[in-house]
Amino acid sequence: MAELFSKHCEFCGKIFTTEYASKIFCDKDCARKARFERDESFYEFPHEPNAEPLFTFECSNCGKTVNVYSKYDQRNRFCCGKCAKNFKRKQDAMRYAKKSDSNIGMSGGMSLGSLIRREAGNLK
Ligand SMILES: [Zn+2]
Ligand SMILES: [Zn+2]
Repeated sequence: MAELFSKHCEFCGKIFTTEYASKIFCDKDCARKARFERDESFYEFPHEPNAEPLFTFECSNCGKTVNVYSKYDQRNRFCCGKCAKNFKRKQDAMRYAKKSDSNIGMSGGMSLGSLIRREAGNLK
């Protein structure tokens, strides 16, 4: 009979047994999710509670201190995918605001003008 290895799932942290020493996830679902999260590069790997982080950085979006425990953890700027997306969105919004700054006065005046004309029409 094959020897069984007792391992921690690298995604959910659950202990599972397997015949394959190279297996790192408890099931296909965890492997699939881990691959997806890893592609996003913002996956926090399970670690021992008293483990020493490999390195520490502050999230550029929320300022949270992030501890990186695994060499597979590719985060170095944001704590999570949400922060990375929010940060990018903020930058896009700022860029957009700068571009449309000069148009705001004109479009505002136009809508106000049409409002006044409508009010005047109702009075007749
Ligand atoms: Zn799992
Ligand atoms: Zn963050």
